[in-house]
Amino acid sequence: MASALSERLSRIVKEMRGQARITESNVSDMLREVRMALLEADVALPVVRDFIARVKDKALGADVVGSLTPGQALVGIVNRELAATMGEGVADLNLAAQPPAVILMAGLQGAGKTTTTAKLARHLIEKRKKKVLTVSGDVYRPAAIEQLKTVTAQAGAEWFPSTPDQKPADIARAALDHARRHHFEVLLVDTAGRLAIDEALMREIQELHAVLKPVETLFVVDAMQGQDAVNTAKAFKEALPLTGIVLTKLDGDARGGAALSVRSVTGVPIKFAGVSEKIDGLEVFDADRHAQRVLG
Ligand code: GDP
Repeated sequence: MASALSERLSRIVKEMRGQARITESNVSDMLREVRMALLEADVALPVVRDFIARVKDKALGADVVGSLTPGQALVGIVNRELAATMGEGVADLNLAAQPPAVILMAGLQGAGKTTTTAKLARHLIEKRKKKVLTVSGDVYRPAAIEQLKTVTAQAGAEWFPSTPDQKPADIARAALDHARRHHFEVLLVDTAGRLAIDEALMREIQELHAVLKPVETLFVVDAMQGQDAVNTAKAFKEALPLTGIVLTKLDGDARGGAALSVRSVTGVPIKFAGVSEKIDGLEVFDADRHAQRVLG
């Protein structure tokens, strides 16, 4: 049975009880445990390596002060580094734009883009009192357009119609024009996903980005994707100037290592977490709390 990072860490605190200082050799034992636990939490290997190197650096340079034992000091460093890597504090949505502030949703099919678009609409209406319009640029799946219509109604926002015979860039222009003329403050643009990264998809969303000039470009990623999330995140980051990440399906049984991976490879803050299928199942991402989850 795999043991969680917190269990492994408390074991280390015990084992290091008799030792007076953090040394090269006792830090290595501990870092081996941290490494195993992070891999079990589905953090990608290169991200784990980086993380371990940073903790090691800090630990060897650290003065163990006061009543802390070296083990406790090390655990503190791991905790702080976890939270820092995932982004400390809270990064709210930036809406500082000439209205409408456009938010472009990107991600693979099934990641939770459409659901998250509606959840965000609801969030913006309730928490920030905004007038919100949604539109779907997914011209490949008529069902996706209908799905957005349904969930937008649940969110209490307005939906701008689009049809599969239109070009996504034309839909974007029409929605933008409608939003301006009807004084919407935020325009949420859902986009087509694919089962895997492909060039046509990337070109299309780049074109949408050029037309819409969004103030936020959010990459939506499924926490259950674990290691695979890294490659997807890299590809989207290369194609688009991402401004934030939404990590969905955190209510599943994933240990949440994808957060660490995706944040590390993109350098972009995780802004929201999806925690249920329901319209109110979206939370502002809390790095400290998530660090505890990764610790297990
Ligand atoms: P899209 O293809 O990226 O637009 O993905 P959808 O929004 O259609 O979501 C795919 C599936 O994931 C749907 O069944 C959603 O209900 C589900 N889903 C999305 N976000 C969450 C979440 O945070 N938690 C759970 N449990 N399910 C979610």
